[in-house]
Amino acid sequence: MSRITIVGGGLVGSLLAIFLAKRGHKVNVYERRGDPRRTDVYAGRSINLVVSHRGWTALRAAGVEEAVKAITVPVHARMMHDREGNLNRVPYSIDNRAIHSVSRGELNRRLLTEAEKLPNVKVHFDHRCVDVDLQTATCHFQREEGDHVVVEADVVFGSDGAFSAVRSKMMLGRFSYSQEYIEHDYKEVAFPANPDGTPKMDPQCLHIWPRRWFMMMGLANQDGGFTGTLFMPHAATKDSPGFDTVRTEAEVTAFFKAHFADAMPIVPDIVDQYLRNPQSNLVIIRCAPWQVNGKVALIGDAAHAIVPFYGEGMNAGYEDCKVLNDLLDAHGDDNWAEVMHRYASVRKPNGDAIADLSMRNFVEMRDLVADPQFLLRRKIEGHLQARHPDKWLPLYSQVKFTDIAYKDAWEEGLRHDRIMEEVMRLPGIEEKWESAEVEKKALGLLG
Ligand SMILES: Cc1cc2nc3c(=O)[nH]c(=O)nc-3n(C[C@H](O)[C@H](O)[C@H](O)COP(=O)(O)OP(=O)(O)OC[C@H]3O[C@@H](n4cnc5c(N)ncnc54)[C@H](O)[C@@H]3O)c2cc1C
Repeated sequence: MSRITIVGGGLVGSLLAIFLAKRGHKVNVYERRGDPRRTDVYAGRSINLVVSHRGWTALRAAGVEEAVKAITVPVHARMMHDREGNLNRVPYSIDNRAIHSVSRGELNRRLLTEAEKLPNVKVHFDHRCVDVDLQTATCHFQREEGDHVVVEADVVFGSDGAFSAVRSKMMLGRFSYSQEYIEHDYKEVAFPANPDGTPKMDPQCLHIWPRRWFMMMGLANQDGGFTGTLFMPHAATKDSPGFDTVRTEAEVTAFFKAHFADAMPIVPDIVDQYLRNPQSNLVIIRCAPWQVNGKVALIGDAAHAIVPFYGEGMNAGYEDCKVLNDLLDAHGDDNWAEVMHRYASVRKPNGDAIADLSMRNFVEMRDLVADPQFLLRRKIEGHLQARHPDKWLPLYSQVKFTDIAYKDAWEEGLRHDRIMEEVMRLPGIEEKWESAEVEKKALGLLG
């Protein structure tokens, strides 16, 4: 049994606590903010996330799948809204598989409750980590009231998010780090339900308004409403408006009328919300190594902050927890040096791969989903998958519906790109996309 300190009781820290406590370790979680079940740390905002296959694999392994499933809404397809309000529904998979929408606050509350059911987990709110001794696994916490708490442990996990204090300490040593802000920021807008609580749009779809340089998406909540997120450059470019040019009431009204007219009757106060709600930015963080001395390791966003366009940030963090748990099974619970070393070597390339995959999906969601050539390619890939499920699994399915390592999915996806480029060049592809000739060409190139 080890004494374990987890810094950060967010989405990943709370699941990690469950995994480690169920192995018999003594787990203390220290969270900077107050208890989200008692205070509204999410500021009344109903932000939601998508849980997908890898997330479920980890939640199941931790024994909390059912507790989480109860608070999710299944999502089976993308629903594209064009400028004229025409809809086009594109299923995520040929076999009607779903990803699941869940409220971030609700998920965090549920996992904290599940963690606290275990007698060997204690969650300490209002404890901000200010220092970590990487040699001794001793953490220092500052409390609101001013007292300073020092905690000794055998190992420390930094699950304290993109701006991790644990990682800051690691950066003082031999540590590589990169931080990239993308040009797009985002703002959230709440889509209300009908007065009787029914949804105003199909809740089983992720709604997307792709506008080439910017986009809006909407994801269902359990209360019949949706969380809408507008992604747009923070500064206008020659091609696109930006948050800096859509500022006044008149500008915002004109912007929504021009680009998202069909959303205006659904969200009557969309302009007020835009003017009122905060604008947030998006950062990609890569770093290495993820562990020091078999004593301190990073997990979740602290190790790999990515853009949200594949909806995989949390799922990747949950997969980190599952991989760590498997390594403890394989190497024993008293062999932290070996386990942490292997954890960091296995997960780091996958963290980099999902960062790249997420930027790629941004381009797809923002402009390609409205491109007929892209939609045709999707149809051909779906056809190949239906006919040869053992040979052709589209990249999106590999990422969202399997446990295939992100880095392997990424490499296979690049191979599919090369093959599909040739397939799409076949004369008359628009007419013969379902033909034996196209199938033979694609499979021949696959080798
Ligand atoms: C707009 C948007 C949409 C997203 N959609 C999805 C999605 O659909 N699916 C998906 O899988 N992912 C999604 N993500 C990514 C997801 O939110 C993150 O990957 C996930 O929250 C990471 O969890 P975490 O626990 O590592 O970090 P966090 O959720 O950031 O939690 C870190 C915790 O540590 C605490 N903390 C911070 N500093 C300290 C300190 N010094 N001391 C003590 N505690 C501290 C924080 O208060 C917080 O509770 C999205 C992200 C964004 C921005």
